[in-house]
Amino acid sequence: MTTSERATPAPTLRQQWTVGDATIVSVVEAETAHIPPEFFFPGVDSAAMKEQPWLVPDFVDEHGNITLRVQAIVIDQPGRRVLVDPCVGNDKVRMLPFWNQQSFPFMENFAAAGFDAESIDLVVHTHLHADHVGWDTHLLDGAWVPTFTSARHLYTEAELEFCRQADETSGEGVYGDSVAPIVAAGLADIVDGNTDLGDGLRLESTPGHTPGHVSLWLESGGETALITGDFVHHPAQCGQPSWLEVGDQDAKMAEATRRRMLARAAELDALFVGTHFPTHPAGRITRDGSAWRFVPVT
Ligand SMILES: [Zn+2]
Ligand SMILES: [Zn+2]
Repeated sequence: MTTSERATPAPTLRQQWTVGDATIVSVVEAETAHIPPEFFFPGVDSAAMKEQPWLVPDFVDEHGNITLRVQAIVIDQPGRRVLVDPCVGNDKVRMLPFWNQQSFPFMENFAAAGFDAESIDLVVHTHLHADHVGWDTHLLDGAWVPTFTSARHLYTEAELEFCRQADETSGEGVYGDSVAPIVAAGLADIVDGNTDLGDGLRLESTPGHTPGHVSLWLESGGETALITGDFVHHPAQCGQPSWLEVGDQDAKMAEATRRRMLARAAELDALFVGTHFPTHPAGRITRDGSAWRFVPVT
């Protein structure tokens, strides 16, 4: 990355959406603008990005560079509070310099949004990349300890295995510092990729980006929402679903999953919450020729 790309302070505005009797809240860790698109989408340049003018200025700047966000999503239901994908975390040793040994004010943002760690009942991980599990643990007296101590933490077996293997080959220790302490504390549950979590919440297997990737559907009061995880990274991929993200482990499967889920979200008129979508991360998916368009709720 160049020096022009740096994380901007998290937006202070509380972003939330109502779906039936549930409230969906974004808690931002960092949002970064002016990223050359080829950094995340190999072979896609800024000129290609500008061919979808509807992306400017909320998701792409006037030069064709992109904005991305790292955020966790809280789903507040009557009697249950669910946290999805708790970001990068602090003090973790990571290969990417902008994730390495960070000191993000995430827990401050979390508190400002009205939440405390003990109030989380369930932590859902769409997958176990470093930017989706970080806050599950924090450093205390030199040891990684669970943050959400009252919560069950859900994992798929395929994702646990993928994450364990990555620790051996990547030089990072995501499993060791962010998953193993949860398992050791007895707070982990292994679930199938297609699982009904009750109260209108349902996991759907969405492999491709990683082998055990899942997305989360919410149905309440006749309304539907979808928390994507990383089957899509940026609104530009709605118009260009064949654009691969650099981390997509199985390119063909990732594209097939992306197309299937975009089509389904459009059909259901679901509130589509893009896990890495910046600025206005929730909206609707509409058909646009042979592809789709993301229409944000502002
Ligand atoms: Zn990922
Ligand atoms: Zn991610």
